[in-house]
Amino acid sequence: MATKLSADVLGNIDHKPPKQGWMDTKPEFLPGTYLYPVNPESLKAIGAPGAREWNPTESDWKLPADWQGTIKAGIKDRLNRFRSFKLFMDICVRCGACADKCHFFIGTGDPKNMPVLRAELLRSVYRQDFTALGKVFKKMAGGRPLTEEVIKEWFYYFFQCTECRRCSLFCPYGIDTAEITIIARELLNLIGCQIDWIGTPVANCNRTGNHLGLQPHTYKENVEYLLDDIEEYAGVRIEPSFNRKGAEILFVTPSGDVFAEPGIFTFMGYLMLFEHIGLDYTWSTYASEGGNFGFFTSHETMRKLNRKMYAEAERLGVKWILGGECGHMWRVVNQYMDTLNGPATFLEKPKSPITGTVFDNAASTKMVHITEFTADLIKNNKLKLDPSRNDHLKVTFHDSCNVARGMGMFEEPRYVLQNVCNNFYEMPPQTTREQTFCCGSGSGLNAGEYLEMRLRGGLPRANAVKAVHEEHGVNMLSCVCAIDRAVFPALMDFWVPGVAVAGVSELVANALVMDGENEREYNLRGEEIPTAGDDDAGEEE
Ligand code: SF4
Ligand code: SF4
Repeated sequence: MATKLSADVLGNIDHKPPKQGWMDTKPEFLPGTYLYPVNPESLKAIGAPGAREWNPTESDWKLPADWQGTIKAGIKDRLNRFRSFKLFMDICVRCGACADKCHFFIGTGDPKNMPVLRAELLRSVYRQDFTALGKVFKKMAGGRPLTEEVIKEWFYYFFQCTECRRCSLFCPYGIDTAEITIIARELLNLIGCQIDWIGTPVANCNRTGNHLGLQPHTYKENVEYLLDDIEEYAGVRIEPSFNRKGAEILFVTPSGDVFAEPGIFTFMGYLMLFEHIGLDYTWSTYASEGGNFGFFTSHETMRKLNRKMYAEAERLGVKWILGGECGHMWRVVNQYMDTLNGPATFLEKPKSPITGTVFDNAASTKMVHITEFTADLIKNNKLKLDPSRNDHLKVTFHDSCNVARGMGMFEEPRYVLQNVCNNFYEMPPQTTREQTFCCGSGSGLNAGEYLEMRLRGGLPRANAVKAVHEEHGVNMLSCVCAIDRAVFPALMDFWVPGVAVAGVSELVANALVMDGENEREYNLRGEEIPTAGDDDAGEEE
């Protein structure tokens, strides 16, 4: 399946299981379906174990001495620390309600991408070594020994799960396979079986504060380029502040927003919004990454990278934090932070200085999502908007898994979009809000070498976009996650050509009527804005 992927695959995925049992079916490490191993220097940089050169396609993975003892001790430790892990190992009744809910199963037809069987990859080892029944009856009780073949299978399939939690929504027992994947990846990490697209960003975030490893002055210079573009297209010169002590608010966003299209347009949107309302804020060139790659590594690394944003807020003496359009930053902040680092008691409960709204939902985290902040501004008539500037766009919205299922934000982005765009269309309801389908490249899987698997994993999402593209002529997929913005352009080009990708804040900025602006002929991408009378207004791009 590695070399022949084409759009025809849409209706031709074989979902029949192989004839032999799953324990006897081994993964094939074909190009496009597995991820490259981590650079050993990245592991050494953060003191992670198992740093070495190795290659998944070779038979010898050069596992560290006593790797089995390390893994078993790791399982024992986590069974003691995480009650959910113990429960999820014990209570599955194999009802199959989750089986067809995973985008990777839908896009590959591989039974081991059924959430129930993905969990079984780890559960079988748990059963053999940690339950009385398994110790006695072994394979008859669903157990199997921990071999190097099992480690290879874990590596292959636990990096074919984006930790999106869609399956958990359908499990009558609430089993969260994403949590099982998190633990499995932690175990793999104990023996250096990490992937480079996670391990190197983690080392970079630890060293310079962002996943690209950019130095503070480079970060600042890039922002300055974007200021020039804003001036060219909107006629407004903006002077943001960096690392300014005493600012009211610290703004943190994924570094992808600063360096790559289409994220940079979202970033320009933040700048224009803040200028428009006269916000007293600052950027940090040290906590310059909202995304938390530690989330895909270990709880300890997640904790460390989460802490840096708050340490910077404390150093700068701000009152609270405003956060940009990011996925995993928000899941970590909303689901894990209070038990990792504890409530941020040194900050104030966020209150909008423009509307006076107090964000009670952020009472513990002290961090407000840019979309809820913007929705509140619109609700209180604080923005001058001309939505007709987006009339050439027919917009749909992708609920990012981490923001939607992870933090429960469904309505705010829709409210914002319906105020800045006149043409908004929902994808089918079984693919939105809680039931949203993953982009297929989350949780650190957005690597170039993994494109085939990403396209397969993204098929269900793309299929829903295709439905509104064909029915309503949708030509813009909006989202509030930097990984989504990075992933979707390739996914749309492949599955639904003619659909572009934008952050919600970009569409807000297009509609924003700013003091002193020129007559807007161009949007933030430098594209001419069709006027109402143009023949091509409303046409696809
Ligand atoms: S968490 Fe998402 S990717 Fe992982 S098994 Fe469940 S549905 Fe599939
Ligand atoms: S839905 Fe839950 S109980 Fe049923 S097979 Fe899946 S994980 Fe097991």
